[in-house]
Amino acid sequence: MGQHQHLYNKAAWRKLRGSVLSAAPLCRMCLEQGRTTAATVVDLITAHRGDLDLFHDPENLQPLCKPCHDRHAQRRDKGGDVRAIGVDGWPVGGIAISKPRNDPFAGIRWMEPATIPLTIVCGAPASGKSTWVRDNAEHDALIICMDTIAARMFGQRAYRIRDDKQWVAARQERNNMLRWIMRPSARKKWSRAYYIATMPTAEERAAITEQLKPDRVVIIAPGQEECMRRAMADKQAGDARTAHSMDAIRRWYHLYRPRAGEEVIGPDQQSQVS
Ligand SMILES: [Zn+2]
Repeated sequence: MGQHQHLYNKAAWRKLRGSVLSAAPLCRMCLEQGRTTAATVVDLITAHRGDLDLFHDPENLQPLCKPCHDRHAQRRDKGGDVRAIGVDGWPVGGIAISKPRNDPFAGIRWMEPATIPLTIVCGAPASGKSTWVRDNAEHDALIICMDTIAARMFGQRAYRIRDDKQWVAARQERNNMLRWIMRPSARKKWSRAYYIATMPTAEERAAITEQLKPDRVVIIAPGQEECMRRAMADKQAGDARTAHSMDAIRRWYHLYRPRAGEEVIGPDQQSQVS
């Protein structure tokens, strides 16, 4: 801010700030990760560097809580991009947060109802989502899974991808696969699709259900302790993976809320998962 501090005291800014916070009272970055936190700061997405049009452009403003704002400002002022990281270790909310979103699910509004039956399978890391799909999927089913996509495209687990271009490409591929099942031609190829994702929050699952219209939403929930036990037992993964998983598992169970109409596969209903 520094030399531009005087801009923030102007009546025009105060008015703009007030209208942003009353229209969108929650921190956008927290929302994108499923947390509801009051916004206290109106943040400039792109640094204005004295450009008054940019400074007063409502499209360049976003409501944030103080911690998110400070994190963002630091990265923005170093010229970096700003992304929130979801429980699956993947950046959430689009390639970059380039536009303010009063709608935290703006990034999925392009999705349309699947033309074939669709099962969405959610759960914490190491909950056994892929195993459940393997055990239950029809032989001609399409399986949409970021981990599988990352493995196929880059030969590594999704969580290991740190290269921005790679995760953008993997995400695009995932979205392409979702587009396949929105087309009528999908009926000729697959009897059903399975979309595997972590999606702990009821809001996120409600939003995606609204768009894709799955006929089943299955939550694989063996319990936090069991997920952690499995993540620890995954010797191949290494310490970094284990630490990442523990954190992601904790966050998933912290954020998880059940939702009417979903099937929950609890500890007793799972077949042996290694
Ligand atoms: Zn926040």
